[in-house]
This record gives sequence, structure tokens and C-alpha cells, in this order.
Amino acid sequence: MQAQGLFLIMAQVSVFRAGPRTLSANESLDLGIRVVPRIIRPLLCMQQGTFFVYSTRTPIIEMTRKEDTMKAKVDQIREQALAQIKDCDTIEKLNEIRVSILGKKGELTEVLKSMKDVAPEDRPKVGQWVNETRTEIETVLEEAKTRMEKAVREAKMRAEVIDVTLPAKKAEIGHRHPNTIALEEVERIFVGMGYEVVEGPEVEKDYYNFEALNIPADHPAKDEQDTFYINGDILLRTQTSGVQVHEMEKGKLPIRMIAPGRVFRADEVDATHSPSFHQIEGLVIDKNITFADLKGTLAEFAKEMFGEDTRVKFRPHHFPFTEPSAEMDVSCFKCGGKGCRFCKGEGWIEILGCGMVHPHVLEMSHIDPEEYTGFAFGVGLERIALLKYEIDDMRLLYENDIRFLKQF
Ligand SMILES: [Zn+2]
Repeated sequence: MQAQGLFLIMAQVSVFRAGPRTLSANESLDLGIRVVPRIIRPLLCMQQGTFFVYSTRTPIIEMTRKEDTMKAKVDQIREQALAQIKDCDTIEKLNEIRVSILGKKGELTEVLKSMKDVAPEDRPKVGQWVNETRTEIETVLEEAKTRMEKAVREAKMRAEVIDVTLPAKKAEIGHRHPNTIALEEVERIFVGMGYEVVEGPEVEKDYYNFEALNIPADHPAKDEQDTFYINGDILLRTQTSGVQVHEMEKGKLPIRMIAPGRVFRADEVDATHSPSFHQIEGLVIDKNITFADLKGTLAEFAKEMFGEDTRVKFRPHHFPFTEPSAEMDVSCFKCGGKGCRFCKGEGWIEILGCGMVHPHVLEMSHIDPEEYTGFAFGVGLERIALLKYEIDDMRLLYENDIRFLKQF
């Protein structure tokens, strides 16, 4: 004890040798010297193990034992740590504080390392301070961490909260196109009468589109159906009638089929024309098929499509692939035949072309016209859709205006 006191006095003397000055807090603590105001000197004098050395000038230097220095150091670390933790606002910074104080090279760990300078009998006491301080700092750190994690969690939950009272986003459900609705209706009617729905190629050979339908190269009907040619022999089909030929060539009889599909013509776009539109082809081939079967079938179709009171009328016409041929009109379903704006005052509306399959067409497809007969018809799908929905301009069907299409 005496040896330690002597050491401290010598240390103090060396401070004065360097010249009278105010020591920093850390400096004085390391030396075991505390600068105290003169006024509290008598109180400090009472403290056991405390030495005073008078300088030539005030203040008075208080000299303490190493044990007291350690206590002060540990207290200082404690105060500093608690203040830092209090100011800390992120978990990352909290970890930095933990490492800087409690880590392997942390301030508190350094104090433990300097225990060798403490008198052996004082070491348990100093060790206890360090451990108590360590526990306290750990507890405060843990509390701060829990608090911050809770805050982070709450902030996240606030950000993710779903307000179930908000109006839902409306899912836009698409509509079937008027053409599709009309086609499904036509298919339903014919399938109900025992017909099969078949498809054929849109890019077709000249033979199937014209030749096999009794329209040879020099036939004037070819001019009426000018189309888009891929080359001299392959073209975009002008009619769905080619599907008839494909079906007849299969050699499977009888045939009862409709063939809906897209067709092409080299037409300018206007209210009633389009370079691309749709047809529904119909074909029946069997033994003993007569014009009466054609009339009965199409009259039934007209009633199903346009109403029970619909009457039909056949006007003679010419198509190269049917003989005899006709165009079928239906009584105006708006005015019942009296004449109105819708039927242009005529009381009748033209719907489709039809006729008995030409014997030559049957022969070309290797069907014996003596044994088999049949009828065919072709109806424009757009015509049906325009009539059914009273649309007066075909272009509306293709302009993809949602406001228009939504109505169906
Ligand atoms: Zn009318």
C-alpha cells in the first residue's frame, strides 16, 4: 500500500515537472489523479487511502489508489455505454456498440486485461464491478434490441396492412364477339339437325376453290371473286365451298356438314364489304335428296334463327356449282313483311345462296350422280350478325371498339 502511494506521488510529481496544467479526465484517471476543487478538499481528506498533493497553484491534485481508478474507469464506460445505447436508433449501430464495449477488444474487456496492475486483494472487487457492469450493459442492450425489433415489426405490419373496407378492383371480363355469338347460334341449330362441323384450310389450292366447284380458269365467276394469290396455284380462299370438295373426296357417305370459316376477297372496305369476312358452308349428300329437303332444312333454320313466324322465299339464281340454284330471303323480322326501314320497304331480307349440287361437281369428287344427290348453301356470318343485332355498318365488327363490343 505504501509502495503504491509512493508511486502515485512520483507520478504526480512528473505531471508537475511537465508544467502546471489541467489534466484531461482520461489522463488523470490513468495516473490515479483527480483534479478536485479546493472547496471539497476537507471531505476528500476524510476518505481512507486518499492522498493530496498541493501544487503551487490551485487546483489541488487528488491522488487515489489503482482500485479507485479502475472503479472510475468502469463507471465511465458504463455511463458512456448507456448514453450511446439511449441515442442508438438501429440494430446495426447497437451491434457496433456491443462490440466496442463487450467485444474481444472492447473497452470493458480491456479493463479486465489490466487487472494485473491491481493489488491481488482488490482484484475480486474490481472483477465484480466489471461483471456487474457487463451484465447491466448486456441487459440494456438486449432491451434496446427487443424494442427496436418490435418497432421494425410494427412498421412492417403497418406498411403491409390490407384495408378490407376498400372497394375491390373490378376484373374486366371479356365479351364474346357478335360474330362468335352468331356462329355459335348457327352451329347449335345445325348440330341439332344432325350436322357435323368441319374446318378447311384458309390458304387453298386454286383447284379446290374454283376448278372442282365447276369454275374453270376462264369462267366469269372467277372475276367476281378476285382474291390474294400466294402464287399462280395457291391463294387465300374466296369461299368455304372448297371444304365441300375435301369432304366429298374422303369418300365417306352420306355427308351432313357445315363448314364455318374466314374467306378473302380483293374488296375495298366499306359498310358492306371487307377483304376478309366469314362464311358458313353447308352440304348434304345422300340418296334421294331433293329440293324439298333443301327448302325444309333452310326454312327450319330461318325459324330457329329469326323467330317462329319467319317465312322464307326462294328466288332463282345462278351458281356454277349448284343446279338449280336459288337465293333465299326471309320475311322481315322487324315488320313481319309489311315493309319498313330495316328491310328497305320490301318486307323481305336476303339471307343466303343455295342449290342442288351440280352433277359435274359430284363426278369430279368421284361420287355417282345417278345414285347420290345433295344440296349446298352458303351464308355470310357477318350478314347474320348484322341482322340479328341490327348493326348497319360491317366495319364496326372489326374496329375492336370496346364501347361497341361491350353491348353484346
Ligand atoms: Zn321490315
